[in-house]
Amino acid sequence: MPGFELIGDEEFSQVKTLFDKSGILFRHSFDALRNGVYMVRDFEEKFAGYMQAKHALAVSSGTAALRVALDGLGIGEGDEVITQAFTFVATVEAIIESKAQPIITEVDQTLNMDPEDLVKKITPKTKVIIVVHMLGVPANMDAIMKIAKAHNLKVIEDTAWGCGGKYHDQYLGTIGDAGTYSFDFAKTMTTGEGGMVLSKDQSVAERCAAYHDHGHENNPNLPRWEDSRSGSGFNYRMSEMQGAVGLAQLEKLPYVVEQQRLQYQKMKDLLAQFTDVSFRKEPEGAYCTADAFVFFAESAEQAKACREALLAEKISTKILPEAISWHFAGTWTHMPELMRQYPELTTAFAKTQALLSRSVALPIMVNTPDDFMQCLERALSQVLERCVVT
Ligand SMILES: *Cc1c(COP(=O)(O)O)cnc(C)c1O
Repeated sequence: MPGFELIGDEEFSQVKTLFDKSGILFRHSFDALRNGVYMVRDFEEKFAGYMQAKHALAVSSGTAALRVALDGLGIGEGDEVITQAFTFVATVEAIIESKAQPIITEVDQTLNMDPEDLVKKITPKTKVIIVVHMLGVPANMDAIMKIAKAHNLKVIEDTAWGCGGKYHDQYLGTIGDAGTYSFDFAKTMTTGEGGMVLSKDQSVAERCAAYHDHGHENNPNLPRWEDSRSGSGFNYRMSEMQGAVGLAQLEKLPYVVEQQRLQYQKMKDLLAQFTDVSFRKEPEGAYCTADAFVFFAESAEQAKACREALLAEKISTKILPEAISWHFAGTWTHMPELMRQYPELTTAFAKTQALLSRSVALPIMVNTPDDFMQCLERALSQVLERCVVT
């Protein structure tokens, strides 16, 4: 959650440097006027270095990052792109924008893509799998990469919630062919609005860069107005002001993830005293960003009762159970592209629906009030059964 909690002097100082030394707010050109200040370019280099990735491209949002990555992998009309039923609506929006058909899998007890269902959803038209590390818990990447390889499919990791998390010591977003990040105001690090695409392959990186900038290839031998192009594009550029904020936020990322993980462990310990809850599964080798702590109540009614009791202590839940309609594909009847594929959309993902309906997600912040854990315990004790100590 807390990039926004830590917006302060460091971010301001980077923006001030930009204004004092350069005043050029556009990432390209104006080389003679900018006194060597290239905020977006530096942010990309530092981000790629941090994540140990080959290529990084900053863009205007996490949704744009997905759209750009899909173009980078050559996706268009007639292709099918598979993603999961539990994700933010943006993942499916990006597939629709690329003119591909979204195909949806169930999630399993990790609340991430169910590899068994993934296999069943692959057709000769499938080109890409977008796996989402929902709420900072890594997906079962070993299983998914194996399936992708066997079927010759590309993988995009939607790492909107997974920025700074790892899987078997590799940063999330660097395992598949491309990784996308969101720096919107609710994400682990923020630039107000913004996103990033990481990619492995030089030609994919070049395609992404051109697509996000009206097709500009930024040919070093040509002035920008005569620039070469080899495909259509759009404008998903990041501005220098966002780049400046991103440089400061990246420095705070390890601290944020560390603090979130401490909170996560405290919540896990606290929840262990109740008998009628079970925990969201984490795949082996997971290093979570701990963006939220999810547990399963015994029933949908009990999950709702938990939310009510938490609200009475001024603790809100995150997405689950209250904001399900923005995060569960079975509710997106407003999307004709989904309805075309799934006329019975509201009952099409029964396994996911059953899991999500009894899930409770506790938000994790860096600046937590001292009495937070006590309030949490007081609230949950009213709904859940304690273990009997003998
Ligand atoms: C936030 C989010 C996005 C979109 O990011 P924006 O920067 O808000 O466009 C995409 N996918 C997931 C899973 C998200 O949570």
